[in-house]
Amino acid sequence: MNEPVQITRLSRSEFNAIAGDMSLRRKEMLFEPQLQIDRLTGLVSESVTSASKLPAPDCRRCGVCCDYAPRVPIENDESKRLNMYWDIVSDSEVDVIVDRVLSRDLASGRCVHLAGELAKDVTCTIYKERPRVCRAFEAGSDLCREYRRMYGLDRQLEPGEILLDRAKIKVRSVGVITNAHIRVETVSVSLSMLASDPQVTESLRSLRMIIEVYVDHDVENGYELHRYDPTLETWLENEFMGLTLTRAKRLIKSRSLQIVNE
Ligand code: SF4
Ligand code: SF4
Repeated sequence: MNEPVQITRLSRSEFNAIAGDMSLRRKEMLFEPQLQIDRLTGLVSESVTSASKLPAPDCRRCGVCCDYAPRVPIENDESKRLNMYWDIVSDSEVDVIVDRVLSRDLASGRCVHLAGELAKDVTCTIYKERPRVCRAFEAGSDLCREYRRMYGLDRQLEPGEILLDRAKIKVRSVGVITNAHIRVETVSVSLSMLASDPQVTESLRSLRMIIEVYVDHDVENGYELHRYDPTLETWLENEFMGLTLTRAKRLIKSRSLQIVNE
């Protein structure tokens, strides 16, 4: 018999509060990151730090990326084959889903699909069905190494290594979307009901969604990618992560009924 699907709906602020709480609790248990986590890659081919040149560690005896990462995105097609996930909805409109992520265990903070003891013997209980983002994450990459240092599994970097690695990471700019935010805009239109009496009006309310993206961790300069009507189109923030602006516009054009912001 198929297992029942458990979809939990959380508003963005509820989700942020949970993620913030998990990260605070972790902070007390882990080493401080030595490099900027949000600028590190999970791909070995894009890794630049000296530690990423070492032989890859054994994932089956580690599991710390699955324990740590608070936001593991699921794409639309993937959610059809998963039986448990969180839908994140807009704070103001509970029917508008803006993102979808793997469920976390609220007590431990880890991915609900991670079984076993960290750093000893772990397994992913949905290994064959795991999302693309998990498949793409590579052992030995810059981000893997940083997580392992935070959990005390790899040695801490020396001050000289930190300076060198930070400089290498800074020049590594690849022009991809590293953050996306979908927000709601409410449009109200007043219609005059009677030509003879313009005072008699009805107010119509409709929603417009705005997709704003940030490239190469430049959090100061958001780029408005697209506006859409949520009754006609559906997008998730995670669909744009890792794309260049050109590829993101092409994706929107392929599915959108409305004009793409050129
Ligand atoms: S942190 Fe690295 S070694 Fe550990 S499970 Fe993740 S990818 Fe594998
Ligand atoms: S689905 Fe599996 S691989 Fe992905 S974070 Fe969870 S335990 Fe790790």
